[in-house]
Amino acid sequence: MTQGLRLVLFGPPGAGKGTQAQLLTERLKISHISSGDLFRHHVQAETPLGLKAADYMNRGVLVPDELTIDIALEKVMSLNAEEGFILDGFPRTRFQAKALEEALQTRARNLDKVVYIDVPEDELLRRLAGRFVCRQCQAPHSMTPGGTDGSPDRELICERCGGELYQRTDDRPEAVQTRIEVYKSETMPVLDFYRERALLADVPGVDTVEQINKRVMKALGL
Ligand SMILES: [Zn+2]
Repeated sequence: MTQGLRLVLFGPPGAGKGTQAQLLTERLKISHISSGDLFRHHVQAETPLGLKAADYMNRGVLVPDELTIDIALEKVMSLNAEEGFILDGFPRTRFQAKALEEALQTRARNLDKVVYIDVPEDELLRRLAGRFVCRQCQAPHSMTPGGTDGSPDRELICERCGGELYQRTDDRPEAVQTRIEVYKSETMPVLDFYRERALLADVPGVDTVEQINKRVMKALGL
């Protein structure tokens, strides 16, 4: 059996990272390890790690690096040595990146590539400001701001079930700007960490899903 690729995927909010992760998972037959999903799993199943994490979250404080690392690495190290994966949402700090590197070294095999889906800020703002979700079936809808007040140009009704569409609080313009700033200040040092190790592939992320996927595959040498 050939060895599966070991990847990390980065992309700012609104870059279509989730869609690309899903495509890569299917095409490369590797596991998608989303730190958000892992946290939810541990918290809901009330595992020892989940209980610790819930304690921090309930107090409204940041989950410490060490706990995030324990949760992510437990999953990564549970895979067979030849199995590939795509990490999404981890590592978020240089400290986490270093911990991942050290853990993988014990397996004598580092990451193959770190993919960064790069989307200019004004494009991100435009995309996120148009993002609406159905209250009933959660289907995402993309709206184009029409009015001078930036309100959408269509009725806020779900195309799938007729439910009411709404904008998540953190997709509103004022929140979006903050999310992008936080993302940049958080992520840039981690990207530098991987650039120093010649693992980083920058992929322009303004195009169709299929075109972006082609670029990612090319960056992976496929
Ligand atoms: Zn709906």
